Amino acid sequence: MTEPMTTGDNRVLIVSLSMKRAMDASHLKPFSKACEEVRFCRKCMAVLPISSFKKEPKVRFLCTTHLRDERKKYVVGTPILRAFNALRCRARQDVFTFGFTKMQITRSQIIALLSDEHVANFSQYSLIPLRPDKPLSIDNAIIVSVEKRRYVVGVWRKSRDPDEYEKNLKLII
Ligand SMILES: [Zn+2]
Repeated sequence: MTEPMTTGDNRVLIVSLSMKRAMDASHLKPFSKACEEVRFCRKCMAVLPISSFKKEPKVRFLCTTHLRDERKKYVVGTPILRAFNALRCRARQDVFTFGFTKMQITRSQIIALLSDEHVANFSQYSLIPLRPDKPLSIDNAIIVSVEKRRYVVGVWRKSRDPDEYEKNLKLII
């Protein structure tokens, strides 16, 4: 009816509820249940619903996406993909060396360049540009041995001259 009375009633209610909660642990149940329904992903750096995690006997703090990424590192893959990954990885490092931020050659274009010999002995080969002042593209790419790559990249590092690089590359291929 009057304001002081209403406030008084509310106050009683609050006290009695908090006292009830303190004495009775049943209110904790929803909270711990919520804990079972979420998990922390150490890559996302976030607490995610349990549905984002793979159901496994072992509790992993990686969501399905990040677990897949983690496992990809260990997946041997097909010989062609393994060769592709190795060549692309080394080529990308060179792309930065030559002052570009990305390559303009697609996955299928790189795969098309691979011979059986490249696939079988991929660690012996590198994908390099014909001219280092142009982005690595299907028209500006060649697969050479790692020794030849080391040689021409060395020429370029010393001279910083794309023509010198191109001239020396032509001499050895
Ligand atoms: Zn994650």
